[in-house]
Amino acid sequence: MAILNIVKDGDEILRKKSKPVDKIDEKLLILLDDMKETMEKAGGVGLAAVQIGKLKQVIVIDTGEDQLELINPKLLSAKGEQEDLEGCLSCPGKWGIRKRPLKVEVETLTREGKTVRKKAEGFLAKAICHEMDHLQGKLFYDEDCRILSPEEMKEYE
Ligand code: ZN
Repeated sequence: MAILNIVKDGDEILRKKSKPVDKIDEKLLILLDDMKETMEKAGGVGLAAVQIGKLKQVIVIDTGEDQLELINPKLLSAKGEQEDLEGCLSCPGKWGIRKRPLKVEVETLTREGKTVRKKAEGFLAKAICHEMDHLQGKLFYDEDCRILSPEEMKEYE
């Protein structure tokens, strides 16, 4: 396993769309494992492949409660609304109050190549939406987000 370098906001790759994975092979499994290790080391709850410079539709999430690997994920439904503090490993020091759906259902490939559906709500739903936005070249503060001022940030510390 390896710790990968996380691309920071300002790098144009973060604004590009990721491409679907066409083959689940040894290389992809290594990528998933490296991404997990990188996310863990950085103290994040999610990481999309574009954040380590690969335009592939691959995501890892670990909320502490749920561990997920998403390969070529598709959003099937989104319901309700939640508003919560959000940040991004690619945007250090930037935090905002972001609106997200409360519940989502996604279809994804597993590392075994099976297509499965996954329902999520609350924090996990937020994390899935955040990471799936990365696959579209979007960052969390692009829409429905109020960026916190440094004074406001102190209240969250
Ligand atoms: Zn992010």
